[in-house]
Formats: sequence, C-alpha cells, structure tokens
Amino acid sequence: MIELRTPAEIEAMRPVGRFVAETLATLRDETKVGTNLLAIDRRAHDLIRRAGAESCYIDYHPSFGASPFGKVICTSVNDAVLHGLPHDYVLRDGDLVSLDFAVSLNGWVADSAISFVVGTPRDEDLALIDTTERALAAAIDAAVIGNRIGDISAAIAGVSHGDGYSINTDFGGHGVGRIMHGDPHIPNDGKPGRGFPLRAGLVVALEPWLLQSTDQLITDPDGWTLRSADGSRGAHSEHTIAITDDGPIVLTDRSFLGVD
Ligand code: MG
Repeated sequence: MIELRTPAEIEAMRPVGRFVAETLATLRDETKVGTNLLAIDRRAHDLIRRAGAESCYIDYHPSFGASPFGKVICTSVNDAVLHGLPHDYVLRDGDLVSLDFAVSLNGWVADSAISFVVGTPRDEDLALIDTTERALAAAIDAAVIGNRIGDISAAIAGVSHGDGYSINTDFGGHGVGRIMHGDPHIPNDGKPGRGFPLRAGLVVALEPWLLQSTDQLITDPDGWTLRSADGSRGAHSEHTIAITDDGPIVLTDRSFLGVD
C-alpha cells in the first residue's frame, strides 16, 4: 500500500534524515586505508545509541537474507556492491567503499548510501561513482508531480546506460516512512510515463547502484553480501526524498554539512 505523508509528517522526518546524513559524512571522513569494516559498524552503532535512534538493519531478516543482518550498516567493498555484511577486513589503498545506512528516529525512517575511494583512487572508480551520483541526481529531478515512477526509473537508466554501465533490477528504490521498505518499488530501469503517478506526500528512497561490466550477481557465503559475478566493481548512491507541490525535498541531503 502506498502511503502519502502530510506536510507536518514530512517535517517530522527531517531530524532522522539529518542524522543519517551526518552519520554518513562522519563515517566517510573517518574511513581510511587501514580501517576495519567492523570498526565502521561499531562507530555507527555508537552514533545510533547516542542519538537515541534504532537501527533498521540489525534485526532485518527478509526472505532473501540467510539470517538476521546483525550489524547496523552495510559495508560493500570493490566487487561487493549491495548488502555488504561488515566483517573482519582492513581497507587497502584504492578500495572502493559503499556505505548504506538506515535508522528510525522518533518513529520515522531515513535511508541513504554513499560510495567513495580510500587512498589513491583509480580513474575508472571515480568515473563509476560520478555516474552513480549523476543517476541519483537525475532521479531526484524526475521526482516531481506530473511524472510517474517510470520517469524516475528511465532517468536512472538513461544516465547509467549512457555511460556504459550495467544495471541489475533485482533491488531498487522503495517507499520510506514508519518502516524502511514500503511501496512503491522503484526499479532502476524502466519506461517513462509508466507506473504509479507521483503525488505530493510520497516519500521514497531512490538508489541507483551500478556495475562496471555485468548485471549478474553472486551472494557471499555470509548469505548477504552481493558481488558482481565477474569481479568488476560497483557503486551505490541513495537519498530519501519527499515529493511535494514545491518539488522534491532531499531529507538526507549532506550539503548543509559542507559536503556533497
Ligand atoms: Mg539504503
């Protein structure tokens, strides 16, 4: 069921959006060559506790997950692109890191993801991240009254395929509200003018995640971490946005922190 939020409810979602934005900015700042993925999870857990928030991930156990997730952040490195379960791995020079983070605060959820390189970046990784961020920006630009879900999907695919990257549509954007995953589902590829018409009060997470050269995935023995089938790298960018009569509001915007 698709739920629409009142302007007052959208205002009530701002604090959780801000907390998720601040946390991702902090974690990106602190994540370096030599950082252990388990330390990122511990730090995120500490920030959640201090804020009085609740992790959406720690007890998360959907049909595709082997067991409850058990951690509070997804850390996907290099050819891992989605649902990376933090494990005992020390980041190396040039690693491409995606952090995906969702919490509930005062009963409202926000969900956001960033990708970045630690140490010396490879040009092809920076290009992949840049396209992922531009695909997200195009998706947000398309999230306006008068458009439909398919216009968002087509915006993501247009940017991504235009730069020669692959899209796997097994996972995509989703409604966000009292819980992390609600209707509607927003595929990362689709036809313009199709699907549910966008309305004021619709709050959604938009999340292009792109792969360099395949759309096929394999799952790690941990039951969660999704990797490209050919070992090529992936990147992921996500914001929670509210569609309003005055245009989209990016609830997890980090620009007020002086970062992108
Ligand atoms: Mg997310």
